[in-house]
Amino acid sequence: MLTIGILSLQGSVIEHIKVLQKIKNIKAVEIKYAHELGLIDGLIIPGGESTTISKLLKDFNIFDALKRRIEDGLPVWGTCAGLILLSKYINGEKSGHLEVMDINVKRNAYGSQINSFSTIYERIDDISNVPIPMVFIRAPYIISVGSDVKVLKLLDGKIVAARQKHMLATAFHPELTDNTAVHEYFISMVKESATCRF
Ligand code: GLN
Repeated sequence: MLTIGILSLQGSVIEHIKVLQKIKNIKAVEIKYAHELGLIDGLIIPGGESTTISKLLKDFNIFDALKRRIEDGLPVWGTCAGLILLSKYINGEKSGHLEVMDINVKRNAYGSQINSFSTIYERIDDISNVPIPMVFIRAPYIISVGSDVKVLKLLDGKIVAARQKHMLATAFHPELTDNTAVHEYFISMVKESATCRF
């Protein structure tokens, strides 16, 4: 049994838990405190509001421990605000968040065009060989990536999914759909990971 944590300070926590409950041999647990980081094989940082989650990470005293665990190899997946929290740069400036993933992001990048809700079906070759639904909510996109980062998905020329070793970032919200493909992809990353206890 693999244990996947969901950072539970703010945002779409329950939605991730519900998708993980559909996948066999996965235990989903909410994570709020630093001591809980030892209990998990991988962590999802959900969508929500990145400034708020970053502030809560500090208020709950988990910011430094989480950054260290990720730097030590804890598999992590950030969706939307979670992507922003992982990023080293926002518009070319140090993000001031966890700064673990070598990506430069633009917040609320779709402005009024896709600022609330939109579902499209697209293929992401590394993740699934059939098109999967993509939901964007005041989404960021990735402007540029470091040499260590693999771009997984371009949508209209903008990077909306990327991976750097044990870190995965998606600008969209797979947890708001019935599709489990991206969650299963993340679980396969966790299984590959050296920090996996199994
Ligand atoms: N716009 C939010 C932010 O900048 C992210 C939106 C989301 O997570 N759906 O943090």
